[in-house]
Amino acid sequence: MGTMLRVVLLTFFSMQLSRATPPVIVIDPGHGGSDHGAAYHINEKTILEKDITLELSQALSQVLEKMGYTVVLTRTTDQEMPLTERTVIANKLKAKLFISVHINTSTNYRDGAQKPEGIETFILNHSTPASSKRLADLENAVLKGSVAEQPKNEVGLIIKDLLLDSNRMESKKLACLIQMGLVKATSPTPQDKQKRNRGVKEGLFYILLGADMPSVLVEAGFFGHPKDQFWLRSPQGRASWIQALALAVDSYFKIQNTTKIRQLLNSCQKH
Ligand SMILES: [Zn+2]
Repeated sequence: MGTMLRVVLLTFFSMQLSRATPPVIVIDPGHGGSDHGAAYHINEKTILEKDITLELSQALSQVLEKMGYTVVLTRTTDQEMPLTERTVIANKLKAKLFISVHINTSTNYRDGAQKPEGIETFILNHSTPASSKRLADLENAVLKGSVAEQPKNEVGLIIKDLLLDSNRMESKKLACLIQMGLVKATSPTPQDKQKRNRGVKEGLFYILLGADMPSVLVEAGFFGHPKDQFWLRSPQGRASWIQALALAVDSYFKIQNTTKIRQLLNSCQKH
């Protein structure tokens, strides 16, 4: 190819790239409407997971938009929203990422035992390990016996399978960045960091099954623990939490070098 032609083509493509619309990110505030998610009683007040996930998602979306991303929320009010419809929104918009935001709860916490704290980030896995199953069951409870929308014919199923496979590494990359970013931002000391890093895990979350793009479910912290209450409720704590998550998303798009990605996946797996 002639040098001149090459220069013209390169200029053309870089102009197209700079003109490209910013990637669309869909953020899903967990629960809503009659599905309250977990309920917490703090100082005689009842705080519902669905309200906190909405507040966090709205604030996160503002920060990401300031960074130049286009963000769409699956719900902007306290409304009923079936799990299947949430990913339909993302698929229709051809979003580049789908992030579902939740607050963690411990079902098997006994009085006197140390209260659980910290962050865990999930990606989809069909064959769910038992430890993740309990939480997945809770988050999937809203399905009430129905299952996530799946392609009906065989070709559709094969395509869906390939899509899930191809998104797996990218989902893991995003999950690692979010996990590491949030743990670092909410752990003032190395001991905290160790305690608060609950890891990147896999589970059969129906909300992720429907997504055609890389997707994660973030369990943002435990409301039952005073430390997590600080990070998720106080304006100061919440600002650090949101900034860390937004930076993780930004790094996801910026880190494209395969060696760097491999290092990232290794270091987050080592936990
Ligand atoms: Zn939840």
